[in-house]
Amino acid sequence: MAQQKRDYYEVLGVSKNATDEELKKAYRKLAKKYHPDANPDNKAEAEAKFKEVNEAYENLSDPQKRKMYDQFGFSDPSGFGANPGGGYYSYSTSGFDGFGDFGDLGDIFSSFFGGGFGGKSNSRTRTGPQKGQDLKYSIEITFEEAYSGVNKEINITRDETCDTCHGTGAKPGTSVVTCDVCHGTGQVKTVQNTILGQMQTTRTCSNCHGEGKIIKEPCTECRGKGTVRKQARVKINIPAGINDDQTLVLRREGGPGIRGGEKGDLYITVHLKRHPIFTRKGEHVLCDIPITFTQAVLGAEIQVPMVDGTKVTYKIPEGTQNDTKFTIRGKGFKSLNGNCNGDFIFTVQVQIPKRLTKEQRELLVELAKTMNEQPPVKKRGIFG
Ligand SMILES: [Zn+2]
Ligand SMILES: [Zn+2]
Repeated sequence: MAQQKRDYYEVLGVSKNATDEELKKAYRKLAKKYHPDANPDNKAEAEAKFKEVNEAYENLSDPQKRKMYDQFGFSDPSGFGANPGGGYYSYSTSGFDGFGDFGDLGDIFSSFFGGGFGGKSNSRTRTGPQKGQDLKYSIEITFEEAYSGVNKEINITRDETCDTCHGTGAKPGTSVVTCDVCHGTGQVKTVQNTILGQMQTTRTCSNCHGEGKIIKEPCTECRGKGTVRKQARVKINIPAGINDDQTLVLRREGGPGIRGGEKGDLYITVHLKRHPIFTRKGEHVLCDIPITFTQAVLGAEIQVPMVDGTKVTYKIPEGTQNDTKFTIRGKGFKSLNGNCNGDFIFTVQVQIPKRLTKEQRELLVELAKTMNEQPPVKKRGIFG
C-alpha cells in the first residue's frame, strides 16, 4: 500500500517546517498545475499527480494528522486487517467525483472552477457528499504495553448508517421525492432589482432545508435522520514505542459520511500509566537498582529486570559508588519512525544496613580497625 509513496513534504515541495501558509500556497500552485481539466493531453498522469498532491495536503494541513505523519510516516496503526480499506494515510478512495468533501478547500477550487453562478457558490458542499464527523477517544495503557506495542479493542458509541432505511431517512417502501421548490438543488435563486441593476442572490431552500429532497414518511427506526447511535467495537494496533499523549488516527472509523461522503476519522490519544519502577526519558528507560554495600565494595553480578520481563546479568565493578549510572544498550523503547532503540539506564542505590548481627558487627569492627590504620582514601569522582 505505502510502498512507492513519496514523502508528503517532497510532493508539495516544501520543507519539514513549512508554515500553514506555505503549505497552502504550494498546494494551490500544484493543484492548478495538475488539475486534469488543465491537462487535456495527459489526463491520466495529471490526475495521478493531482491525487498525490491532494493527499499530501489533506494530511499536512491538518495539524493532528501532520503530527502523526511526522511521528509515524506512512505506518498504519489500524493494522489488524480489521479495517478493510481503512488504515491511516491510506489513499482516500472517495476519488474524483465532485469536490464537496474538500470542505474548507472550497475557496481554492472555486478560484479555478469559476464557481457556479456569478461568484462564490457553496451549493456543492450543501448538497454534495460530506465527510462524516471525526471522533475523539482516549485510552490508557501500561508502561509495558507501550514498550512492546499492544492490540486493543475499544467500545465506542457513534452514529452509524441506519440499517432500516440505509441512510435515506425514508420509511422502507416509501420514496424520497425531489423538492419541488428548489428542484433538488437545495437552493433558491431570487432576482432583485436595485439601483445598480439586477442582483441575483441564492438562499438555502426553506422547503427542504437545503437537502434537495423531501421525506414523505420518515423511517421509524431513525426518525428520518438516516443514522442511529450504536455501540461499535474498534480494534487498534498501538505500535511499540508510543509515548504519553500521542495520538493515533484510524481512518474511516468516525461518523458516517453525509450524502455518500467518506466516513469521518477516529482520533485516539494514548495515555501511559505510571510504572512503580521504570520511568521514561525520550526512548531511554530509567530505573533505580538497590545493591548492598558489600556488592558495591567488592563488585558483583546482579540481575537487572527489563521492561519486557526478562533479566539481564550485569557486572558491577568493585568500588562502585552510590548513584553510579550504568547503561545497557538497546534495551530502551523502540523509536516510532525508525529501527533504533533507546537504552536501559539504571542507577545503583547502595543500601546501608540498619541492623547487624553480633557477628557481622564484630567483623565490621575488625575491618574498621584495618582501615583506620591506612592513610585516608582520597575521594575519587563518582564516575572514576
Ligand atoms: Zn432509518
Ligand atoms: Zn428545496
